Amino acid sequence: MYYLHRNLAREFINLNPIQRGGILPADAKKAIYEFWDGYSVCDFCQGKLEEVDNPPIKKFLEDVSEWINMDRAKLTYGAREGKYIVMHSICKEGDYVVLDKNAHYTSYVAAEKAKLNVAEVGYVEEYPTYKINLEGYKEVIDNLEDKNESIGLILLTHVDGNFGNLNDAKKVGKIAKDKGIPFLLNCAYTVGRMPVDGKKLKADLIVSSGHKSMASSAPSGILFYEDEFDDLIAKTSERYPKKEIEFLGCTLRGLPLITLMASFDYVKERVKKWDEELKKTRYVVDELEKIGFKQLGIKPKEHDLILFETKILDEIAKKDKRKGYFFYDELKKRGIGGIKPGVTKEIKMSVYGLEWEQVEYVVNSIKEIVQI
Ligand SMILES: *Cc1c(COP(=O)(O)O)cnc(C)c1O
Repeated sequence: MYYLHRNLAREFINLNPIQRGGILPADAKKAIYEFWDGYSVCDFCQGKLEEVDNPPIKKFLEDVSEWINMDRAKLTYGAREGKYIVMHSICKEGDYVVLDKNAHYTSYVAAEKAKLNVAEVGYVEEYPTYKINLEGYKEVIDNLEDKNESIGLILLTHVDGNFGNLNDAKKVGKIAKDKGIPFLLNCAYTVGRMPVDGKKLKADLIVSSGHKSMASSAPSGILFYEDEFDDLIAKTSERYPKKEIEFLGCTLRGLPLITLMASFDYVKERVKKWDEELKKTRYVVDELEKIGFKQLGIKPKEHDLILFETKILDEIAKKDKRKGYFFYDELKKRGIGGIKPGVTKEIKMSVYGLEWEQVEYVVNSIKEIVQI
């Protein structure tokens, strides 16, 4: 028997940005008890997972696509699988994907797997904001067109996982529409955390991540798209006419889907409180900049993921016998987790979904640690 134990969720305030949006509400935990056996969502399947009425998978997909304001929604194992499905189904081998320089590694790997080339759109400024030059999409596309290269897809990272910079997707959507190239918006860090309206953002396709931002167990995600892409994305097998090729028939056959569905009401409610989340985030930045932390990325924060440059921690580490581990260690003593052990030059954190008392406790604890 393997030793399987984790107390981070029960005993600590977890500041890990990739995990803060994936914490399950009690209702989702309860649903797990009913569906923990393998293939348990398939009791009433008539050949298509996404048409199952009990549990109400079909209804859920209608509701969630309406909520994001996109024509269709399909289940995936995560944002990366969604991106690969999009690239593989709508691009041709050798096509270019034009993407932003803050794109997630999985965007590059998905393109590689789909045998596509990538062209990057750079920054308006590197340090300290690393803001993407959205108008630059035009230039990169023009250059490729001048060379007679075929562009299959325009991809923008709505909020990136390094700086937590929010991009104005409409601008890129407009460029994509003018050029007649499909526009994929990577919403791994946004759908389920903050309001997203696909049509307003001029997205043709959207990928989201259930375990990162929709309070679901891993692996899970939803691919949203407009009707015109259905023929390519949902193409069915010749031999098995009910089975969609890109999805190998069906994807989420169990708990990740159940938790995605069980958390949906909770997620819709929390998204409405996004302004309050931004207030908490900005409070953390204001307070910790007073003790020498420097927030990198666009200011003021428009997303809960915060990257701090922390020279002050680095200086303390030089004098402390625990070296870089002192910070992790001191946080742990105070019941705070989710910060990478041993790292002191930069730290990433999020207080998404914490109570104000907890946010204040985190801020005061860090102040106390830095002043030791
Ligand atoms: C986390 C993240 C991903 C990967 O999401 P998965 O659902 O685990 O595939 C992709 N893109 C961005 C921007 C991310 O932050």
